[in-house]
Amino acid sequence: MERWEVPSNGKADLHTHTTFSDGALTPAQLVKKAKQAGLVAISVTDHDNVNGLDEAISAGKDLDVAVVPGVELSATFNRKEVHILGYFVNHHDEQFQIFLSELREERIRRAERIVQRLNKMNFPITMNSVLKQAGDGAVGRPHIAAAMVHEGLAQSYQSVFDDYLGNGRPAYERKVEVSPEKTVRLIADAGGLSFLAHPGRSLDDNEVDQLVKAGIDGIEVVHPSHSPWTVQHFHDITSENFLLESGGSDFHGGLRGDDDVFGQVTITAETVEIMRRRLFSHH
Ligand code: AMP
Ligand code: ZN
Ligand code: FE
Ligand code: FE
Repeated sequence: MERWEVPSNGKADLHTHTTFSDGALTPAQLVKKAKQAGLVAISVTDHDNVNGLDEAISAGKDLDVAVVPGVELSATFNRKEVHILGYFVNHHDEQFQIFLSELREERIRRAERIVQRLNKMNFPITMNSVLKQAGDGAVGRPHIAAAMVHEGLAQSYQSVFDDYLGNGRPAYERKVEVSPEKTVRLIADAGGLSFLAHPGRSLDDNEVDQLVKAGIDGIEVVHPSHSPWTVQHFHDITSENFLLESGGSDFHGGLRGDDDVFGQVTITAETVEIMRRRLFSHH
């Protein structure tokens, strides 16, 4: 099966994470799980990292699961963090890879600042234990939470977010600020399509409208954080603006305990094919 070929029938999940960011499964393990869950297509969308895509694509070829190359980037908008998914990116594009490795270096510096904050609160957490949790992955707050649990400094993964790491909590640190416009341009320069991720979490309609004007190609309509009402709402916004639709489980696995969403929060393979067609009519 050629890389972009998508079956016309079946279920697809275009939002998943692996050990190359803060997911628990390797790309090959994730593709195997997708096959077992009956998915015909997935996208691997690690935070600021495309280094797991070759493994996922190759496992997909073996198991007959179409793997759309993806990535999840963070942009700053209205002092909020918004996530933008890039699909069908050329993950071997050198400029794109350089940009992503700079973001991952920034993530290490941010983790150091968070660890310092926790140390000041008398948690003897070390960067070493955080980096051990992260392995090959783009370092993030989930690894810090996991390290806190692993070192016996916290009861649960979620409690670390609730008490310290969540947005606005005492050990929170901002990421490097990249505008939505720049994020969309970087994805387009790498040959991909940009989708506003899980807009139901924190954006009002006016903000979504401004992000549409920033040049996104589509909206992630289906997401575990979206109620049926929210799904319908973003479906309507998408069609009113002639945008593409996407969706997926945002599966991470491991301490997250989100195994139940995998294979359950899906879109149709036909929706993926519509995205692919839009891309190839542009280029
Ligand atoms: P980071 O990229 O370091 O900002 O970490 C983002 C990850 O942390 C995402 O995968 C989120 O799902 C997770 N996350 C962010 N806020 C929370 C929270 N309040 N509770 C649990 N997980 C969270
Ligand atoms: Zn994540
Ligand atoms: Fe996200
Ligand atoms: Fe995600």
